[in-house]
Formats: sequence, C-alpha cells, structure tokens
Amino acid sequence: MLPRMATANPLENGKHEDLDASDLPKILERLRAAQNKSGTPSYEKRIERLDKLLKGVMAHKDDFVRAINEDFGNRAKHETLVAEIFTTINTIKHTRAHLHEWMEVEPRPVSWLFAPARAEIVPQPLGVVGIIAPWNYPMQLALAPAAMALAAGNRVMIKPSELTPRTSETMAKVVKEMFADDEMVVVTGDAEMGAAFSKLPFDHLLFTGSTRVGKIVMKAAAENLVPVTLELGGKSPAIVSEDFPIDVAATRVMHGKCFNAGQTCIAPDYALVPRKQVDRFVDECKAAVAKMYPALKANPDYTSIVNEKHYARLKGYLDEAKAKDAKVIEINPAKEELPSEQHRLAPQLVVDPPKDLAVMQEEIFGPILPIVPYDSLDEAIAFVNDRPRPLALYMFAYDDDAVSKVVDRTVAGGVSVNETLMHFAQEDLPFGGVGPSGMGHYHAREGFETFSKKKPIFYQARLNSAGMLRPPYGKTIDFALRFLLGK
Ligand code: NAD
Repeated sequence: MLPRMATANPLENGKHEDLDASDLPKILERLRAAQNKSGTPSYEKRIERLDKLLKGVMAHKDDFVRAINEDFGNRAKHETLVAEIFTTINTIKHTRAHLHEWMEVEPRPVSWLFAPARAEIVPQPLGVVGIIAPWNYPMQLALAPAAMALAAGNRVMIKPSELTPRTSETMAKVVKEMFADDEMVVVTGDAEMGAAFSKLPFDHLLFTGSTRVGKIVMKAAAENLVPVTLELGGKSPAIVSEDFPIDVAATRVMHGKCFNAGQTCIAPDYALVPRKQVDRFVDECKAAVAKMYPALKANPDYTSIVNEKHYARLKGYLDEAKAKDAKVIEINPAKEELPSEQHRLAPQLVVDPPKDLAVMQEEIFGPILPIVPYDSLDEAIAFVNDRPRPLALYMFAYDDDAVSKVVDRTVAGGVSVNETLMHFAQEDLPFGGVGPSGMGHYHAREGFETFSKKKPIFYQARLNSAGMLRPPYGKTIDFALRFLLGK
C-alpha cells in the first residue's frame, strides 16, 4: 500500500490535491516532456528562473524562519537567517553572476591531422534533476542545489525531509507560487516516498542525507543507471596542534559544534588535542560555551534537537559513555534543569573515550564533543586515516609545515584551516564528500558542471583529408602511415 502524501504541487496546474508515490512517474514525464519540447533554455530563461527562486525565497523568508523554528522546537533565528536564507540567496546570486561564463562554449584544438576541422565543448542541460534533501538545513539543502540545477538548464523535482514538515510545505507552496508545474516541483513525503522517488529514471539525482540511506539511494539509481551526487555524513575531525592558542581553538571548535546544536553535516565531530593540553582545552571549551550561551533553557540562540528520536539517540550515547566510566562533562553555564520535552541538550565533552563507544563509532550530529588526546601529529594523522574518509577536516596550527603535513596526508571532502564550517560558505569552492562521506560536488562552477553534460563536438571542414581513411586503402594512406608510424 503506497502512502498518501499531502503536497502543494498538484498534477494539474492550480489545483491542490494529494499525491502518492504512484503519481511520481507522471510528474517526471511532465517535466521531461516540457524539457524535450523547449530544448536547451537560453541564458535569459535561466536567469529568469534564478530570479524567480530568489524572489520567492526573499518574499517568504519570514515564513521559512517560522516554519523551521516550529519544526525544530527552537531553531536560533540567526542560524536560519545565515545558514538557510543567506546561504541560499548567496548561491543564487553567485550562480547568476557567473552563469554567462559557465555557459560559454569552450573551443578545443584539433590535431593538425584533422585540420581544418574544429572542436568544442558545449555544456548542455541533462534534463530533469531529482533532489532528495535532509532535515538539518531543510530549506538550503533543497533550494541551493535546485538553483544550480536550474542554472544548468534543467527542470527539477525536489523531495524534502518528512522530519521538517512545515518547512517542506512552505517550500512546496513557494515553488508552486513561483514556478510552472512543468518547471520545478516539490513532492512531500516520508522515507517510502523517498524510496519511490529514488527509483525514478531522472537524468541526475542529488541526494543529501545519511551514508546508510545514501547506499540505498545509489542502488536504486543504479537500476536506471541514473548518475548520482551523494552528499553524505560522517565523523569530521578537528586537529589542534601544539603551537595554536588553545582558547582560540576551543572557541572555534565549540562554535562549529554548537551551531544548530551540532546538527550540521560538517560540524567538528571530535577533537584531537595534544595530551598535555587536554585539561586546558576542556576549560577553554567550558569558557567558550559560557560566553556564547550564558544560559540554555530559554535562550533563543541555542537550537533544540530536532525531535524526540534524535534527542533519545544522543542521550543514549551519553548514557553508554557514563555506564562505561568515560569522563562526561556537561557544559550548562546557568546550571539549569533542561526539560526533556524541549529537546534542548546542553553541550557535552567526553574526554578520552574508549574507541568502541557509539560516540566514537557513529556520526554524532548533536552537541557532544569527544576529545581524543594524541602524543604526536603522526599519531593524530594515523587516527584520522584509520577511519572512514571524513566530509570535513579542521586543522588548527600556525605552523605551515604542520598544516601541510595534515592536509597532504589525509583525504577529506573539504578543509578549513584555523576555523570550522567556513569552507562551506565559499561560493567559489566546490562542496562534496569523498568515499563514505559522499561523491561529486555542487557549489561553484563544479556545481554547474555536475548538472550539465559537457558535450564534445567535432565539426568536419568542407575540404578535408578524411577520404584517405576510407577503403579502398591506397597510396596516400600508406604514405601517411609511413610518416606517422615510421618504417
Ligand atoms: P536521511 O538519510 O535519514 O534522510 C535524507 C532524505 O532521504 C529524507 O528526505 C528522507 O525522507 C529520504 N529517505 C529516507 N529513506 C530513504 C530511502 N530508503 N530511499 C530514498 N530516500 C530516503 O538523513 P537525515 O537524517 O535527514 O539527515 C542527516 C544526515 O545527512 C547526516 O548523516 C548528515 O551528515 C547528512 N548530511 C549531509 C550533508 C552534506 O552536504 N554532505 C548535509 C546535511 C546532512
């Protein structure tokens, strides 16, 4: 039995109706038929679509702030404005500003043997792009890739997360308001809807979510040989080197850890700290949290854990650590009772945890920071390299040699040196994981290319020498081969 899903995107223009998973192929067909009919959209058409998206996001930014806040219980307003609204707008504007350059046809040389023919590469839209989005930045992680896919000339189908239903409905409403139902469509629904969505024969599928579901999605896409971009998760380390001011490192790590209450794919998952500096690092983490959040319970700046399930998961990690006698330090500056129904979890440090604990095995995705002592930088590098390749790596050092050593000898999706999170915000840098943390990129020119076919084209000249390549082979080709291959 297929689930019935509410959606603001009807099959027929202007009519609101429920959709179920069996409606998805019809929606895809509609988008594909429109794309086939219109052909490659012009630069002006793509700009028009980007402008519509920008206008929709700007006009409804308060609706998004409200919806995301309600979905989370409490989502710091500034975190939504920065990490959802600003980031999406910035991506759209950056894409808009560079679109002309990215769309340019690139001439490529032909060998003198083929002269006077010519060759070029033409970026061409793939067709219809599917986007599956998670709940942690529920608007930005759907609409920023959508902007890039539209810029590359595609039509788009989005399946946002069921864990943030108000945001998903707002997105569906805004997209319906701004776009024709054969241009871009949002379909809402749960994991079952996601499973049906990932089985559709898209021209490209971008999935952002967990590594576990990423495997399922890739398998489903493989049935139709749909190319995928997988933006997954994992455990991103922060390495603090001895020469770096420990208070500054603690402040920046705890900022990355507490932003969105740690529910960020590129949040520093754990910190590797020189053994003799661990106690000071702990003290500085406490001081940093107290400065950012003097109180937690009614503080609008401190985001809640998204739901009961994830709150219980994080509590479970802490219970297990305590049961196994790990040193767990709660940072609760005003020493408040935090009612569990609010899903606010105080930041926690787990010092030198046994490596079999869930906090050292699973992606934490919450405000818990394991601190792993190390004795030499080589040991810290080996610790990272013994584990699945992370989505992000953070290195705190002023010593250039130490930075180069870590950057050269580890493989990660992206790196920020002496900071956390910020590489994501660089519009000229591609974003994506490696191995278990993902494959492919979006953002920047690489994002445009992800959603384009770089089509190589060869133009034969009116007068050419290709005739000698056709039988019956005669003296001319013998002479040419003697020249090319030697006697
Ligand atoms: P998730 O994998 O549970 O769900 C993501 C999306 O997939 C949702 O829309 C869901 O409905 C859908 N889905 C669930 N089961 C499916 C199935 N069988 N087939 C197809 N679709 C299915 O992830 P989540 O809990 O929403 O998000 C958290 C995870 O996402 C974390 O691991 C985090 O690191 C990762 N993440 C990665 C990035 C990145 O850019 N690399 C960004 C944000 C989050």
